[in-house]
Amino acid sequence: MEITKRNKFVEFLKNYWMYVCVGVTILTIAIIIGVVAGSQNAIQTGNTNLEFSLPMNDATIVKDYSSTHLQENPSLNQWEAHLSIDFASENSDVFAVLDGSVTSVSYDILNGHVVEITHENGFVSKYCSLAENPLVKEGDKVTAGQKIGSASNSSNSEADLGNHLHFTLYLNENPVDPNNYLDLQNK
Ligand SMILES: [Zn+2]
Repeated sequence: MEITKRNKFVEFLKNYWMYVCVGVTILTIAIIIGVVAGSQNAIQTGNTNLEFSLPMNDATIVKDYSSTHLQENPSLNQWEAHLSIDFASENSDVFAVLDGSVTSVSYDILNGHVVEITHENGFVSKYCSLAENPLVKEGDKVTAGQKIGSASNSSNSEADLGNHLHFTLYLNENPVDPNNYLDLQNK
C-alpha cells in the first residue's frame, strides 16, 4: 500500500514537476509583492488609500513636529515635544484635510478656538488657534479642502507664533507625524 502510494507520488512529480515549480514560483512572487506593497502603504497612509488635502495654502511651517527632541516654547517658558505642525500663511484660510464629520468645536485659553474632525480609517484631525466663530459646528459633514475657519493668535500657549494654525493628526487616538501624510513638498 505504502509503496504504491509513493510510486504514484513520484510518478505525479515526474509528469508535473514543471507545473509544480512554476506554481511555487508564482506564489512566492505574489507573496513578496503583497508584503512589499502592504508595508509601503502602511508607512505612507496608515494602510489606507486616503488622499490628504493641505490645511492651509502657501503656508510656511513655523514649528515642526517633534516627538524625540524638545523645542523651546517661549510663551510657556518651557521645553516641550511638539506633536503637531504649526502653519502660518498670508492667506489665513484653514481647510479640512479629509472628508469627515465635525466631532467637536471648542475654546480654551491654551489652545484657542479648536475644531476636531473625525475621518475614516481611525484618523482624527484637530485645528487649534483658530479665529472666533469657526465656519463649522459639531455634527457638520465636511469634505476635503472645505474651509472650516481662519488661523489666528487665539492660542495663548503659542502666542509667540502670532497668527498660525496648530495642526494635529491622530491615528487610532495617537498623534502621528503629519509630514508622513500631507504632501508638504508641493505646498
Ligand atoms: Zn504648535
